[in-house]
Amino acid sequence: MKHAQFPIREAAGDADAVLVDRLRRQLQQERRARRDAEAVAERGLRELYESQVRLALLQRITDFANQSNDFADVLSVALKEICLHMGWEFGNAMRVSDNGSTVTACDTWFASDPERLFAFVEASRRLSVERGEGLPGRVLRDNHPHWIDDIGEEGWFLRRAEAADARLISACAFPICIRDELVAIIEFFSSKPMVDKDAILLTITQSATQLGRVIERERARATLIHDALHDAMTGLPNRVLLDERCREAFRRLGTASTGIALMVIDLDGFKAINDKYGHHAGDALLVEATRRFQAAIAAFEQANPRAGHATLARVGGDEFVVLLDSVADCAAVERLAEMLHDVLRAPTWVDNDQVAAGASIGIAHSSDAYDDVEQIRRDADLAMYEAKAAGSGRTVTFTDALGTTVRNRMALERDLREAIRDKQFLLYYQPIFSLSDGPSLMGYEALIRWQHPTRGLLDPGAFIEAAEESGLIVFIGDWVLRQGCSALARLHKRIGRKDGSTLPFVSINIAPQQFLQPNFAQQVQRVLIETDVPPDCLRLEVTEGVAIIDSERTRQVLEEIRAWGVRTSLDDFGTGYSSLSYLQNLPFDTLKIDRSFVASIDDPKSRNIIRAILDLASNLNLSVVAEGIESQAQGRTLIEMGCEYGQGFHLGIPLDEKSAFALIDQQHTG
Ligand code: C2E
Ligand code: MG
Ligand code: MG
Repeated sequence: MKHAQFPIREAAGDADAVLVDRLRRQLQQERRARRDAEAVAERGLRELYESQVRLALLQRITDFANQSNDFADVLSVALKEICLHMGWEFGNAMRVSDNGSTVTACDTWFASDPERLFAFVEASRRLSVERGEGLPGRVLRDNHPHWIDDIGEEGWFLRRAEAADARLISACAFPICIRDELVAIIEFFSSKPMVDKDAILLTITQSATQLGRVIERERARATLIHDALHDAMTGLPNRVLLDERCREAFRRLGTASTGIALMVIDLDGFKAINDKYGHHAGDALLVEATRRFQAAIAAFEQANPRAGHATLARVGGDEFVVLLDSVADCAAVERLAEMLHDVLRAPTWVDNDQVAAGASIGIAHSSDAYDDVEQIRRDADLAMYEAKAAGSGRTVTFTDALGTTVRNRMALERDLREAIRDKQFLLYYQPIFSLSDGPSLMGYEALIRWQHPTRGLLDPGAFIEAAEESGLIVFIGDWVLRQGCSALARLHKRIGRKDGSTLPFVSINIAPQQFLQPNFAQQVQRVLIETDVPPDCLRLEVTEGVAIIDSERTRQVLEEIRAWGVRTSLDDFGTGYSSLSYLQNLPFDTLKIDRSFVASIDDPKSRNIIRAILDLASNLNLSVVAEGIESQAQGRTLIEMGCEYGQGFHLGIPLDEKSAFALIDQQHTG
């Protein structure tokens, strides 16, 4: 800049000279001040510009970090932006291992000239170092940025040779943290010295904060996904994840030569433990069972490499599933089931008590017959229910035959439910006669029939067992009792009580489950009151099965109903345990000799048994009904042996209410 000169007169005196001197100094001062002011303004402008560029860079990184959930994407953009901004040749990202001991490149990098940097990029993109080792290892150890001004000087720098080839001389590396945790490291390399480290530090630290946010978000998302797919208590895959793995495994079946197997495991007695010790004990047991299963599965996988890879999942309260993928050896799957039973055998401590929870295991193997994996799962479930029905600690592998049996039973159960709802049952009545005088009709045994919508009229043999197994017998039995008593009441009303004559009775079969219901006696009482049947005209037939389940309770119930005058019969005597102690201790009025003895009455052995039963009954003061009299000869032999009562096809077959009760009129009319 050019400066103006002040005019100085030669003729000036001393005073003038002083003035001139002062003006000159003043002038110099002003010049200096102006130059300083200009320099300050220039620097300010430059800094303003630089900070604006830096802000723009940060803004781009932040915007991208906000848009993307993919950490690798955000990293690669950030590396590129920073390198371009700084004029650096290479940027590389590395992730810290979960335990914080190593740092490994994640193959996310930027190179301004990849060809020239090839060897260095190769050495860097898969680098993995321990804490303290090389540049990233030092950042991991010290948790602060590191600078290298001259790579050639630093003997500890691992990629020195490659850096020299690429003519890289300077480097810096920075930690990326989430709060206090170091989760990743970014490193940069340049062929020029890195100057103005303060500005670099500021720019990259702020960028690293943005990158940390993305990792944090990524982690939160991973946690959410993990939680949605895993059981919180045991940490095992849950039903959702299992279903997905099953579908994947089933899809792969199309191309694979191996199969898959599903194993459904249900703990036995878990509910009882939960009820007795509380939920915390149940939870502890589940966690312990999980731990043991995992150990057994790991040992199994190691010992049986051909048996496939196993996924253990918890799919319900005490229900686990193992998916075995690529199974080449089916027998091995059963061996795994045995190992799972074995590990459960050792008792677990619960509240100072030792409890052992067994398991029931069902297995199903893939085959061409399956259209989807849900079908395999359903069959494994079926097999598990069969195992459970067979007792604790069993394994059942699904077969087609088993499938048919179980499906038929399930269909029958479904039909039975509909039958109850739609009132498809009816009662037949078989007359029971006094043999000694005539014979004369004393009463009827009510026998259930099912008017099935497609299969026609069914005998109890076709459905009573299924009704008992499903528990539906309780509802059916209640209906039988009510129906039998109301029919008898109608009969009583019709015939009226003739002088001296006894009213006919009805004998109702009661299943063990029905008899042992807590309120069974009250139910009987209610029906008697509602129908107005005299108690001594009602007989209840039970088999020994009920006494075997709970003989003390059986005695109490029998006593209670007998106290009102109801009669009790022990049905099918001679076929079960026929324990004499039951007979002695249980209050029965009547013994019914099973028809198998009557059928073989020509055989002296059967006759001996019948004679023994008749003696026993007479000693215990019980009356006897012989069942299944099919011929006149059988009837005659029984009369000769002193048997008091009888029923059978020879005397009268079971008939519907109208026909059966018409027999009474015939008898009355002679
Ligand atoms: P049960 O109580 O011993 O009934 C006698 C069975 O023997 C009846 O079969 C009857 O039809 C049959 N029977 C009677 N006389 C003869 C004969 O001379 N020869 C032959 N071969 N059979 C004869 P049903 O009606 O098929 O009943 C079978 C079993 O089903 C009954 O045996 C009883 O245990 C059960 N049951 C029948 N109705 C009910 C019921 O309402 N509830 C329960 N829980 N069980 C019932
Ligand atoms: Mg009976
Ligand atoms: Mg019987």
